[in-house]
Amino acid sequence: MDIIHISAECYPAAKVGGLADVVGALPKYQSLLGHSATVIMPFYHGKFSKSNEFTVVFSGYARLGHANLAFNILKPVNNNLGYDLFFVDIPGLFDRENVYSYHDDTERFITFQIATLNWLNTLEKTPDVVHCHDQHTGFIPFMMSKVREYSRFEQVPSVFTIHNGQYQGQFGFDKLYFLPPFHSYFNGLVEWHNLINPLASAIKCAWRVTTVSPSYLDEITYEMKGMEELLRNERGKSYGILNGIDVEVWNPETDPMLEQNFGLKTLEQGKKACKDSLCNQFGLNPDKPLFTFIGRLVGEKGADVLPEVIYNVSKYNPGEQNILILGSGEKHIENSLLHLESEFKGSYCSYIGYNEKLSHMIYAGADFLLMPSRVEPCGLNQMYALRYGTIPIVRRTGGLRDTVIDIGDDGFGICHDQCSTFDIIHSIQRAKTLYKDKRTFKKVRKEIMQIDHSWNKAAAEYVELYQSLKL
Ligand code: ADP
Repeated sequence: MDIIHISAECYPAAKVGGLADVVGALPKYQSLLGHSATVIMPFYHGKFSKSNEFTVVFSGYARLGHANLAFNILKPVNNNLGYDLFFVDIPGLFDRENVYSYHDDTERFITFQIATLNWLNTLEKTPDVVHCHDQHTGFIPFMMSKVREYSRFEQVPSVFTIHNGQYQGQFGFDKLYFLPPFHSYFNGLVEWHNLINPLASAIKCAWRVTTVSPSYLDEITYEMKGMEELLRNERGKSYGILNGIDVEVWNPETDPMLEQNFGLKTLEQGKKACKDSLCNQFGLNPDKPLFTFIGRLVGEKGADVLPEVIYNVSKYNPGEQNILILGSGEKHIENSLLHLESEFKGSYCSYIGYNEKLSHMIYAGADFLLMPSRVEPCGLNQMYALRYGTIPIVRRTGGLRDTVIDIGDDGFGICHDQCSTFDIIHSIQRAKTLYKDKRTFKKVRKEIMQIDHSWNKAAAEYVELYQSLKL
């Protein structure tokens, strides 16, 4: 099949979170299954664009309201990703370092979608399926089916994956004219609660909707920022497909970012070397269990509860554990986390910022990874942790519910029900008991490293879904 993925992020070209990891890996595994998979994404002026060479394969214009914006389609000169990657370069809108959080994100991503379809419209062949990811590509299914300019795509199946339903991209009707012209009786297909909403539009118009875990699909039909009813209506065409992980990038035996590589047979020595180096870097005691957190410092991830947890555990159980946090996000959480450092020097440390190498070092060197998420569509961190022999401590929600089984239920992780200080601390106490029981601790580490969360299964499930849409 000829599969086109359209996304705002794709690892290694641009990554903010899990969306990049998924779009960077799924097409690779689909290519391995014998399909032609392509990714189209915006051309940001970040590290990747500065350190690679590109050729222009197409030049055109995208109309955004009254403006006619020039764009180029770029292709990397060297590409060993295992799938084709194309960039939409739109000067004035994307020649900035960051992916999101600009005042004109609405204009940026609408233009990206229009430019993408304008380019695809010039190609000789239409794809077998167009797979869009998150709200930044949410108008594509609508435009493919209802905008006359793109009528060539009317019969091309579109699949839309919700990686995170918290971000919907809605804006007022005053900006309706940014979208290419369409008949006003289709207004309802771009609207939700009196706003224009790309996520709602995709849910309404895509031939199939998927979520990144089965549990998340169930959950969002009763809790998704006002869109529950729509999801209940569209439940019949929606599927939960659990994400995989790229087991080539995330392989403790070959990962170049680790102090020492390790496999099943060298697990104990390898993890010790990684833990020692990490503790050394952050002034922590390697003999104590190391609890970690990696992620966006936002309420969705339960990060707002972390400062209180760190305070209580460090004050009332001093010398029993180390805690290391890597993340960035809301300023008040960052400040609280930094503030605690001076008080608990030697047993707690945080790194505020984004650091890919450090994240790999933590997955490898930690004993436990905390994920107290309030919302977790799938969660990749727990799967990386498992692969690197680190035991996840998770709140039972979304994809965490689907991937981590509590040790008390013959599983391998530690689970709790609430995103509360009490529940998290209780889990930390359970983890410390497990840490002391060296035999069981070692056994669990060995067991989790062998769990297969590779993309093989999910990549095939997506292809099966696309094939079911063939006319
Ligand atoms: P999200 O909701 O943020 O997409 P996921 O669990 O799906 O959460 O994916 C998070 C990805 O981002 C993982 O690859 C994780 O290691 C990475 N990540 C998050 N925050 C940081 C950070 N501060 N530094 C390095 N990597 C990070």
